[in-house]
Amino acid sequence: MGNDNNSTIFDTRDIDYLASNLDDSQLKSEAHKAEIEVAVCRQFGEYSDELYWSGYAEACKEALKLRLRNRPKPKPVPGKIDINDVKSSIDIVEVAERYTKLKEVGKYLNGLCPIHSERHASFFVYPERQDWYCYGCCKGGDIVDLIMAIEGLDFKQVLTLLSQGIDILPCRSDGGRG
Ligand SMILES: [Zn+2]
Repeated sequence: MGNDNNSTIFDTRDIDYLASNLDDSQLKSEAHKAEIEVAVCRQFGEYSDELYWSGYAEACKEALKLRLRNRPKPKPVPGKIDINDVKSSIDIVEVAERYTKLKEVGKYLNGLCPIHSERHASFFVYPERQDWYCYGCCKGGDIVDLIMAIEGLDFKQVLTLLSQGIDILPCRSDGGRG
């Protein structure tokens, strides 16, 4: 079905040109029109025209991909906090260690749960995945879930808190809990 021998007719300069002169919907409709031309040419055996149009269709699709790749990422709205920024800037281990003493056991850390009262450590933190789970209270999640559970805050409050850095969090790991 497909025709892969058409890459020589339209080169990267043509693709650049298309990408900067046509918008997404124009490129889509150009590609669509070109594909219709391809089908017509195929029917009438007009091989060189078929080659041209299928090249053009491919070029339009490539230009569309180029536009999508080069599209600037939306700028964060001032005052709005991005959860991914927060998560990538803060290590869950550092946060958990402010609330409980953790012992490194292979790929994870283990300690007394900072959420519920217990004598045997059933609270686990997984640095690789940046998440945690407590087998005692059966709670788990990411950094935001952890602070929500400990501090009794909602999602937005935790994000606001974390956007100010972790120094703002209490340090209870030495005092213990329960
Ligand atoms: Zn627990």
